Amino acid sequence: MKRRKFIQNAALTTLGVAVGATLTGCTDENKETTGTAVAKEVTTSKPVIPMVIATWNVPNATKKAWDVLQAGKSALDAVEQGVMIEEADENNQSVGKGGLPDRDGNVTLDACIMNKEGNYGAVVCIENIKHPISVARKVMEDTPHVLLAGNGAKQFAIESGFTPENLLTEKSKEAWNKWKVEAKYKPIINVENHDTIGMLAIDKNGDISGACTTSGLSYKMQGRVGDSAIIGSGLFIDNEIGGATATGMGEEVLKTVGSFLIVELMRQGKSPQEACEEAVKRVIKKSPNYKDFQVGYIAVNKQGETGAYCIHEWFNYTTYQNNENKNHKADFYNKA
Ligand code: ASP
Repeated sequence: MKRRKFIQNAALTTLGVAVGATLTGCTDENKETTGTAVAKEVTTSKPVIPMVIATWNVPNATKKAWDVLQAGKSALDAVEQGVMIEEADENNQSVGKGGLPDRDGNVTLDACIMNKEGNYGAVVCIENIKHPISVARKVMEDTPHVLLAGNGAKQFAIESGFTPENLLTEKSKEAWNKWKVEAKYKPIINVENHDTIGMLAIDKNGDISGACTTSGLSYKMQGRVGDSAIIGSGLFIDNEIGGATATGMGEEVLKTVGSFLIVELMRQGKSPQEACEEAVKRVIKKSPNYKDFQVGYIAVNKQGETGAYCIHEWFNYTTYQNNENKNHKADFYNKA
């Protein structure tokens, strides 16, 4: 059985409204979850490469990425194909097809990818395209730009051969219709499923890449873009140092440029765990209402040593390393 936990009533004061955030992905402490054993340790794994790490309990996605690495492909291929598993999973209501819509019923997606050369590609607020991560890769590889938004991103995707489709599933439409009865913009930290998928991988050559993809906050204002596709916030890779990615309240991650901060802290000698902790503490220091929202980070350094930390309990993450696909509960700040 999965456990529900809701933290409500946070206001997005900078926007003047509160937005319904669905933060999901945690299970009862140390219980078995489908496909993976939940590890008891909460800190780092042994540094081994190749490896994959992803936010939340996503064993199918990490397995896909691992298989791609085992086939001798690059970390870039691994993270793209890994997160595509979640984008295609209609039961995951926070990524790709089946993602919960904005308050007007539009499913809008944000995704970005970074490679070992430090190149970056992203799409924000794209509609009707199931695999925004692959469009982000095409932006990186086939255009002189790094970020395409909205209709332009969709147009580029169609011109590149992607087929537009309806992404609002019956299940998500039903949830939206229920939400509309009260239409209250209350953030919800929900532990039932999982959320934005951020994935980092190191291939057999020791090269690092990362990907991050999301449908963003559920019932957000139309046009809202979070951290996930913004370089340095939702994702950052420096192949000399390591990588980091984020999940949670995007506005807070954006304000502190969390993933870039983590990589820079690792550059200064911090372990991935120490760097994630400091980045979460930066969010806390800057936001007096930190008790009302979740932010979680994962990171890896060049050696394959990992770290994870979040504000509130119930953020977990998955590693595939040393032939083992494992879910871990992240350590957290708010133990009161
Ligand atoms: N970070 C995502 C966003 O703000 C949502 C999430 O991970 O909960 O769009």
